[in-house]
Amino acid sequence: MLTILTRESLLEATWRRYGEGRGCHRRHCLACGREFFTSRPEARYCRAACRQRAYRQRLRARRATLAHV
Ligand SMILES: [Zn+2]
Repeated sequence: MLTILTRESLLEATWRRYGEGRGCHRRHCLACGREFFTSRPEARYCRAACRQRAYRQRLRARRATLAHV
């Protein structure tokens, strides 16, 4: 098995060892539901693509709301 050490896998290793509150947070992505590890407690998306997808969905929802007015 090939193990690629990414920034996230390092965060996950730290999270598994120390748990929440040591600069490592486990979150579930609001866009795709994937579990991910982050150093930012406010993070809500696992990657930029998910954040953009959610952003575009918000824009579409707003346009749809405006169209009904
Ligand atoms: Zn995601």
